[in-house]
Amino acid sequence: MKRTVLIRITAVLLSLLSAIGLCACSKSNISVSTDDPSAGTSSGQPTVNTPSDPSEGQTSPSLLPLPSEGTSEEPSSAPLPSSPSKEPVTPTPSEDPTLTPTPSEDPTPTPTPSDDPIDPPEPVKTVEVPASSVRHVFTHCLINDPKKGCATASGPLDVDCLTVSEFEKLLQSLYDNDFVLIDINDMYVLHKNGTAKLAPTVTVPEGKKPLVFSIDDVTYDPRKKGSGMIDRLVIENGTIMGCYDNADGSTTLTDGEVFPILEKFLKTHPDFSYNGAKFTLALTGFAGILGYRTDEQYAEQGIDVAKEREKAMVVVNWLKANGYNFACHSYSHNNYTNCALSRVERDVEMWNRNVKPLIGETKVFIYPYGAWTNHGTAKHDLLLKEGFVMFCGTSQLNTIWDGKQPKEGGIASGTGTIYLERFTITGFTVRTYANAATYMDYYYNYYKSIGNDDATAKQKAQKNFDSLFEVSYNNMQEYCDPMQIYDHENRYHKILADEE
Ligand SMILES: [Zn+2]
Repeated sequence: MKRTVLIRITAVLLSLLSAIGLCACSKSNISVSTDDPSAGTSSGQPTVNTPSDPSEGQTSPSLLPLPSEGTSEEPSSAPLPSSPSKEPVTPTPSEDPTLTPTPSEDPTPTPTPSDDPIDPPEPVKTVEVPASSVRHVFTHCLINDPKKGCATASGPLDVDCLTVSEFEKLLQSLYDNDFVLIDINDMYVLHKNGTAKLAPTVTVPEGKKPLVFSIDDVTYDPRKKGSGMIDRLVIENGTIMGCYDNADGSTTLTDGEVFPILEKFLKTHPDFSYNGAKFTLALTGFAGILGYRTDEQYAEQGIDVAKEREKAMVVVNWLKANGYNFACHSYSHNNYTNCALSRVERDVEMWNRNVKPLIGETKVFIYPYGAWTNHGTAKHDLLLKEGFVMFCGTSQLNTIWDGKQPKEGGIASGTGTIYLERFTITGFTVRTYANAATYMDYYYNYYKSIGNDDATAKQKAQKNFDSLFEVSYNNMQEYCDPMQIYDHENRYHKILADEE
């Protein structure tokens, strides 16, 4: 019994630890709003991530702009390379779903009645399901080689990142639970005036559940070099690979990164993708993209930025042609709830100069730290003006609103803002809650204890949570790789001991 109490205490402490910024992209699994008088206590209410927590302002060192950034405020006079040839990311009108196999993975041509005497492939039977039932899960780029130490200036990689085998198990688990990847851009409908609303439904193959999967910070920050993460993405023999630079100037290729792993998985499980949909990559700009130093500030370090952009474009074009799409994760990875309007303005300007010309337009904005901007504020208006319509934060409740403010919940159609929570699967969540029973016990009791006058909202939240448990936590123990380099066990035992 005492053990249970200790576990609870630990879990609360862990959620607080998480809240002070251990994770780069998600503030915590359970965010506690500070305008709740009970915030920070175990009776606090799990809410949408509304990080008004002052500690959120303490940006993780790894996420600060590079040191040279402060001296590169001058706008670059050099024009950027021309826009990518690919079309900007726009919602694709739904095609006839009954005749749409997963095109990128199935080389078999669509049969035409006149010239196909052999068995035609079974057409995929599809159904329409509410767009509000879409689950959105995210993680980060992987730890490719734990033996390299996982040490970075801002802490160990395994706080944010899964290992290769953990990620492979996660994919398998999602597949086994009948999830299918869909395109996030099929979740909204654009009005002629540029505003958007949540689409009433999305299309999935019969018996499947819609899933959006995003990968945050696909940056390969040079300051993480040598820590066990790859150095960049490359296209080799027509497919995507990870690449390391070796000390002797040679390079090593690896398929141990989320994108090659997904490609491989889809070869044996093509029905994990509907209509060719794959992952959404959340990009920042301050350290370049995809492992290339594409940002203008690198010119000051003698790097040929134009050449870097050329190389990045090879990967960008491959990704777009193969079902991936991009989201803006801000330029500087700042906390948008707490930062000044001028920071958002500068971010938008730098994004438009350094990233947008490479990837094209995107309608999806993924908040760093899950730090929301509320509809009706100057910061949010600025993002809407830039064309973003789908705003993603983090919360294990994983719900969706077409509405004014993430915290209000419910539907307020016509605001042009769709808020979408993302379910966090990081090294932190996987290893911290490796004992699924502990996590579930903790969360359910936590949730029950707060009470909720709105029975419908509570029911909805619980339902969402239940459905996610099927995926993420039932077999958590199996996901978790023992990580020798960073001793989570001892660390958490120490917290337990302190509490005693
Ligand atoms: Zn991030």
